[in-house]
Amino acid sequence: MQTYPDHIWHNGRIKPWAEATVHVMAHGLHYGSSVFEGVRCYDTPRGPVVFRMADHNRRLLQSAHIHDMPVPYTAEELGAATREVLRANGLRSAYIRPVAYRGLGGFGLSADTPVEVAVAAWHWGPYLGAAALESGIDACVSSWQRFAPNTVPAGAKAGGNYLSGQLVAREARRLGFGEGIALASTGLLSEGAGENLFLVFGDELHTPPASAALLNGITRHTVRVLAQEAGLTVVERDLPREYLYLCDELFMCGTAAEITPIRSVDGKPIGNGERGPVTRRIQELFFGLFRGETKDKWGWLEPLEQE
Ligand code: PMP
Repeated sequence: MQTYPDHIWHNGRIKPWAEATVHVMAHGLHYGSSVFEGVRCYDTPRGPVVFRMADHNRRLLQSAHIHDMPVPYTAEELGAATREVLRANGLRSAYIRPVAYRGLGGFGLSADTPVEVAVAAWHWGPYLGAAALESGIDACVSSWQRFAPNTVPAGAKAGGNYLSGQLVAREARRLGFGEGIALASTGLLSEGAGENLFLVFGDELHTPPASAALLNGITRHTVRVLAQEAGLTVVERDLPREYLYLCDELFMCGTAAEITPIRSVDGKPIGNGERGPVTRRIQELFFGLFRGETKDKWGWLEPLEQE
């Protein structure tokens, strides 16, 4: 069962968890008009750090901009709220969920309903399971496609988009798979229900482009930079489905899923059916950031307690 922390940040202040409520007639509930982020705080030898917090808060504001939602806080103020909620709950590591949503006051599709904001933080382990970080998961290609690029913008991390992700993820779990992979409306590879994809061919990492109806993940960017540091080549390109079956290694990445290997797709083993050496190397570099083994040259680790 999910256990919740004592406090949450809501509309400018820390409140008891139970008091951060929305009305049943909230615009966001009826029309999916919310934008959100998933961010992680890691306990490191330097103390707790929030990973790429500024980038996440920037993306939250970009998602809101796409949907004409005026968020009444700057990225810096959202950063301060994040620090406040972590401290209020005494958390040194956490999953953090900032969300901005249209609340009450003005109903209908084009109403300028005021935007409210909350930031929650709680303990949440790797999304696809801690064991999967080593063993990998069995994935399937979903019978649901992602939305076409001229329908709903995949580049905004908006609540409504996640009806698509839920169809993909729930179908996969119902059929006994760990996660689903969606194709774009073009029939080419897009992404996992809530994760980006990397296919490994020798020392090259291939990933579908932003035009394939995916969220341009911050972990995806992190993987790209770390792989290049390790002397690997990263290629962004259109990828047909069958390349999933032909690659040497395959992994998913995202803030919640971190770096999770995929050991089979549609019942076909990937490579030798185990986590491969390139995936392992990327995991070492990624988790090494939080163990103090990978030097943070990029300022990605934002200390909870500012120096
Ligand atoms: N795609 C989707 C649909 C997602 O929900 C996520 C998780 N936010 C990702 C990709 C990965 O994005 P990030 O690395 O920024 O968490």
